[in-house]
This record gives sequence, structure tokens and C-alpha cells, in this order.
Amino acid sequence: MTAPRDALDRPIRDLRISVTDRCNFRCTYCMPKEVFGRDFAFLRRDELLTFEEIARLARVFVRAGVEKVRLTGGEPLLRRDLESLVAQLAATGVRDLALTTNGSLLTRAKARGLHDAGLHRVTISLDSLDDAMFRAMNDVDFPVTRVLDAIDAAADAGLTPVKIDVVVKRGMNDRDIPAIAERFRGTGHIVRFIEYMDVGNSNGWRIDDVVSGREILETLQRNWPLVPADREYFGEVAERWHYADGAGEIGIITSVTQPFCGSCTRARLAANGELYLCLFASRGHDLRALLRRGATDDELFATIAGIWSTRTDRYSEVRADATPDLRKVEMSHIGG
Ligand code: SAM
Ligand code: SF4
Ligand code: SF4
Repeated sequence: MTAPRDALDRPIRDLRISVTDRCNFRCTYCMPKEVFGRDFAFLRRDELLTFEEIARLARVFVRAGVEKVRLTGGEPLLRRDLESLVAQLAATGVRDLALTTNGSLLTRAKARGLHDAGLHRVTISLDSLDDAMFRAMNDVDFPVTRVLDAIDAAADAGLTPVKIDVVVKRGMNDRDIPAIAERFRGTGHIVRFIEYMDVGNSNGWRIDDVVSGREILETLQRNWPLVPADREYFGEVAERWHYADGAGEIGIITSVTQPFCGSCTRARLAANGELYLCLFASRGHDLRALLRRGATDDELFATIAGIWSTRTDRYSEVRADATPDLRKVEMSHIGG
């Protein structure tokens, strides 16, 4: 059985696996408190895929062409004993196995345990170095020092290169861009500034709140000369730059102002086993039902290949034509 290509001739290379839709943060751009409050209906335990189910699907995805697997959420470290899932995923032989986390639960012991289980690297989200701004953005009063400790713990455990993702929101953390870049220059960590996106329907996104990649780049260039880095592979999302003085690499992700759907090779598996073909999709394809009905690996492969081969998604390229009432899945459900 050959690896599938979608209707726009894109292969499937990356699989993002959300292991939970829950989070201990309430970042205003992702899980605003007013929507994700006490009454919000999160997935029940029996609705979540088990680690064995996730690993089984991952094996099939690797057969279909996936080379990179990333665990995400919600906050993935809320899922107990994530090390055991990591070990099962490492055993699929996937080339690159990574985790995206807010860092709040990434202690030294956890970082070592994940590394020993076979995790290659982590991306840690960090929107500001200013404690008051960081607390305002996570909206649960979580102190920035603990995330900085998590970054050190990840690096010391060998989960490298550590990537640090910063979602930039105008009037909030945009003034912190130079300080964040400065803090991690020369450390080997890779900071990536991300345009604030209109994922889901609950974050009250307005184009005016987006700081464009161009503006971010100009801000950086006012402080340091940068040279463009070569693209490393098809489907790479970040525009990468090197500091001219050799102090390392920096990335900018321009999903809003310069979409990259033409080379989008990502599939997303929600914690309940729904497969999504785009970050902005309205519906997913239920793989859990198939698993629990006793489908064989060949049947799973054929279903996944069939779904992928019909994929036409390219939301960011047609954003301007989308109707305002388009229902989109929330980021915390499918994983960022
Ligand atoms: N909880 C983990 C974390 O924050 O790293 C993993 C899941 S989170 C949904 C993954 C990434 O999505 C984070 O880096 C977060 O900043 C980003 N994100 C969430 N909402 C976003 C938005 N509206 N626009 C751009 N990035 C967003
Ligand atoms: Fe939680 Fe990550 Fe969303 Fe923040 S961005 S609310 S940490 S899932
Ligand atoms: Fe991929 Fe959809 Fe994002 Fe385009 S909008 S890059 S198709 S996830």
C-alpha cells in the first residue's frame, strides 16, 4: 500500500496528537475563562483514546508517511504517566518525536523521565518575560520563573534543541519581543514568534490584534542584523533567520499574513480519536469507532489513506472568503 497524497498533492508527514483537551492555563487567546469555565463539557475519560490506541494509530500513520509526531493538547503533561505513551511512540521508529507544553509541570524529574522514555525534544510556550504580563496572558496567575526553570530542565535533560513559542498579541506582549529574543540569544534555544490566529470561535480574534511577521522581523532587525536561513524541508512552517553574529536561530510563523497551506503536510488527532485535516476544520473523522469495532491495521491504513486523499483544506489561503459564522474546532481540542 503506497503512502497517500491529498487532492492538492501534499503528502502526510506530521502527526500532532492531542492527548487531552484540558489545561491548567486559560490563555486568553486559546481557552478564555468565559468560555472554558466550570460548566465546560470536557471529554470524559472513556471518550479519550487510551495510550495503546494512540500508539496503534501512530504506527499506521508512520506507515502512511508520517515522519514527525508531536504530543500536544490542551496541556499534555496533565495526562498521567505520559512517559509510557512516549515509550510506545518511540517504538514505532518515528524519526522525530516532540512535545509542546506550557512548561508548568515540566520538573527536572519529568524532563529526564520523558527523555529516557524516548522523547527527542520539546517546545515550550512562553509569551512574556514580564511576570505581570505573563500572568495576565495565562490568566491563572502562573509565575514566569517556573516556566524559565522548565526550559532549563528540558535543556539539561537533553530535550534539545528547545524551541520557545511566543504568540504575539498587539497591545499585550508585542513590546516584549526584543527582551525575549535577547534572553535566549546564544543559548542554543530557538525562539519562534507566532502570529495570533483565528482558531476556533471563542477567542474573539480581530485582525487588528495580529502583529504581522513583517513587523516582528523589523523589530528584531532594529536590534540585530539577521540573515535568512535555508529551508530545511518541504512543509517547514517557520521562516527561519540566523543572527549575523552567530548567536543562533530565530523563527517567525506567519500563518495569517503569509499562509503556507501549499506545503501543509499536517494531520491532527484529537484526544477522542477524531482526525482533523486542518487547524481550521469544522469537523473530524472518527477513528475511535473504527478502532473499537476491531478494525485491522490494514483497514485503519485504508481508511486514513482514503480520508487523506480527499483533503482539499487550505483555510489560511482563503481566510478572507470564509463566512464569519463558520464553525471551527477549538485549538485545545485538536492541539496546536
Ligand atoms: N498547552 C500546550 C502549550 O501551550 O504549549 C500545548 C497546546 S497549545 C494549544 C499549543 C500552541 O498553540 C501554544 O504554543 C499556543 O501558544 C498556541 N496557540 C494557542 N492559541 C493560539 C492562537 N489563537 N494563535 C496562535 N497560536 C495559538
Ligand atoms: Fe492551555 Fe496551551 Fe491553550 Fe494556553 S495555549 S490555554 S497553555 S492549551
Ligand atoms: Fe495547513 Fe489548514 Fe493551516 Fe493551511 S490553514 S497551513 S491547510 S492547517
